Amino acid sequence: MKTIQDLNFDNKKALIRVDFNVPLDDQLTVTDLTRIQAAKSTIDDIINKGGSVILMSHLGRPKGVESKYSLQHIVTDVSKVLGRPVDFVSDCVGEDAEKAAASLQKGAVLLLENLRFHPEEKTGDLDFAAALSRLGDIYVNDAFGTAHRAHASTTIIARFFPGNKCFGNLLAKEIESIQKVLKDGEKPLLAILGGAKVSSKITVIENILDKVDHLIIGGGMSFTFIKAQGGKIGQSICEDDKQALALEILEKAAAKGVQVHLPVDVIAADDFNNQAATQVCDINNIPAGWQGIDAGPKARALFHEVVLSSNTILWNGPLGVFEMDNFAKGTIALGDSIAEATAKGAFSLVGGGDSVAAVKQFGFADKVSYVSTGGGAMLESLEGKTLPGIDAILD
Ligand code: AMP
Repeated sequence: MKTIQDLNFDNKKALIRVDFNVPLDDQLTVTDLTRIQAAKSTIDDIINKGGSVILMSHLGRPKGVESKYSLQHIVTDVSKVLGRPVDFVSDCVGEDAEKAAASLQKGAVLLLENLRFHPEEKTGDLDFAAALSRLGDIYVNDAFGTAHRAHASTTIIARFFPGNKCFGNLLAKEIESIQKVLKDGEKPLLAILGGAKVSSKITVIENILDKVDHLIIGGGMSFTFIKAQGGKIGQSICEDDKQALALEILEKAAAKGVQVHLPVDVIAADDFNNQAATQVCDINNIPAGWQGIDAGPKARALFHEVVLSSNTILWNGPLGVFEMDNFAKGTIALGDSIAEATAKGAFSLVGGGDSVAAVKQFGFADKVSYVSTGGGAMLESLEGKTLPGIDAILD
């Protein structure tokens, strides 16, 4: 795996695909700098090695050129985070971009306008990728969030840099973390899958059954399993057409010697809102009209034991409707357990959508080994797929 440590950047222009798809408020102010901060290490390293950098990213889902999606809005923040001046050019390809790139001095930073102002970015157009490639000497991909897309700037462009392409620090760390779990995970290995639906995690479950020793299935998706086993789940969320599949998964897990842990009890509510009346009940005996929306105390204690006895932990998906304060206890307790296991030496990876939001919201981000920056890309990695953006650097 070639990283920036393996290439000579002295007097070279590094064209870096970053993920600056940051959230902006109504005033077009950046509300979360995480993604910009995450790119800093790669940029600093390349500049320290004598290079200059050209940053390219998408922002939002513009239909053609739409000023509210201009990367101009983030220039000041990028400059603040990097602690360096940042130049901006109002198109990512063409004469102006080429001129700006050509005149870059050693140590300078240039940010290009939104790649998706050109529809050719998403279609993976070869000519567009060629036009981008003319801006730099070395191509660096540091955008895990888009590594599962075969877009011009994430994948196709790599063809124009044989021998002169590598992974940025962030992308390298993402790849290492996934490998630490799926390839070299120290046993016992535990995967915790929660969230709303079984259907969105089926391929993940099937792929990880070959790798894990324990599987915790929590959150909304557990009810499909419980109902399939004959439990009474009241009004809890359930995918009836996935019941047969749920039983199949349990059979496969048993055949492979994977221990599956479902929540034994739940906090049930009489309505789907934070003020709803609640009661704790066994998960397979939820009264009609009530729905399970968080893990119960027995389930939390059981999960705590499993987490603390594991050396490698993967967490994807919350254990309850954590967006509502009163139903966040299961997810918070799980975060606490994972933090404790991590402090005792376990490797823990949190990734894929809502669990990342939960981990940040409840202050666990610094207490786990790694929090992934890519939702869809993480899920596809866990499904065992090769991501085109990663493949393009490897070949
Ligand atoms: P996912 O995107 O599949 O990870 O699902 C995350 C969503 O699952 C969150 O918005 C949670 O509120 C929701 N969720 C978790 N547990 C439950 C539950 N028991 N009932 C309904 N929704 C749930």
